[in-house]
Amino acid sequence: MKNGTNILLIYTGGTIGMVKDYETGTLKAFNFDELMSNIPELNQLDCNIKGMSFEKPIDSSNMNPGHWAEIATIIEENYAVYDGFVVLHGSDTMSYSASALSFMLENLAKPVIFTGSQLPIGDLRTDAKENLITSIQIAALKEKGEPVIREVGLYFEYKLYRANRTTKINAEHFEAFASLNHPPLVESGVHLNVNYPSLLSKEALPQPFKVHKKMDNNVAILKLFPGLNRSVLTSVLGIPGLKVLVLETYGAGNAPLDDWFLKELKNAIDKGLHIINVTQCSGGGVAMGHYETSEKLKEMQLINGRDITTEAAISKAMYLLGSKVSDKVFKTIFETSLRGEML
Ligand code: ASP
Repeated sequence: MKNGTNILLIYTGGTIGMVKDYETGTLKAFNFDELMSNIPELNQLDCNIKGMSFEKPIDSSNMNPGHWAEIATIIEENYAVYDGFVVLHGSDTMSYSASALSFMLENLAKPVIFTGSQLPIGDLRTDAKENLITSIQIAALKEKGEPVIREVGLYFEYKLYRANRTTKINAEHFEAFASLNHPPLVESGVHLNVNYPSLLSKEALPQPFKVHKKMDNNVAILKLFPGLNRSVLTSVLGIPGLKVLVLETYGAGNAPLDDWFLKELKNAIDKGLHIINVTQCSGGGVAMGHYETSEKLKEMQLINGRDITTEAAISKAMYLLGSKVSDKVFKTIFETSLRGEML
């Protein structure tokens, strides 16, 4: 007998539901019913599971903000009826999509768990079954009738992370994701161990759930490297219509002291470009002013991305621009943690 917990599975594509095309040898997405028929174990779970699928499931390299809006719409339209949502998604861009959804879903009071796998569900050694089954169990977790997780999470290889803290770090290992600046929310062993202090606070009574679907993609990412030449920098800063540049700097937010480099950045900021300083390290964050090589960046008012991931920074920028946050307050709002994405 099933309990009354309703879970909606949203299938967008990814390796989890792929099969080999024997003509070309490549992996291609297959349909949701075939995916479900490969996991009869789902019938043993103590909750009611319904599935919905993108009309055409995709490899996540094809994801774009339009697809994020599609996922957000499915959650919005089904929010009242379901207790939790599990989004099946390719791992390649999962951290971007899951970070984006964390911003798009404001005042979320139910679990939205992204998962996928490194091997297709039909493969003998697949990691898909554990990832999917445990994600559903986590989405169905309740205490005193209330969902335990009230945020967007990403579950992979025995760990649930806060989605907007994750990065894909491995294309080979089943442990494909890391969250170096925030501990796992749940670890799956013999039991599901919830790390309560790491969850988003449930103190405040939730305001009404609100879905934002407008994302403005007039944004870019530039990763510094020794030898970056001036024309590359000028071309990026001069992109017509560019509103935000996420600048991946070294270590604790450091950059070269060359006059031309600092002058180009300063000119762009004076013309209204928002430049966000994020570190290219996977762990730790930006501490502008700690070294001489970041002092000037601080003086010219680069936005401090602190310990945010690049994935969260770019999707937060698209969300804030899409929400028409004014230039005057953009820096202040960006530097504020909205969904636990930064310290
Ligand atoms: N290329 C696949 C995707 O991201 C990889 C995966 O699912 O793990 O859709």
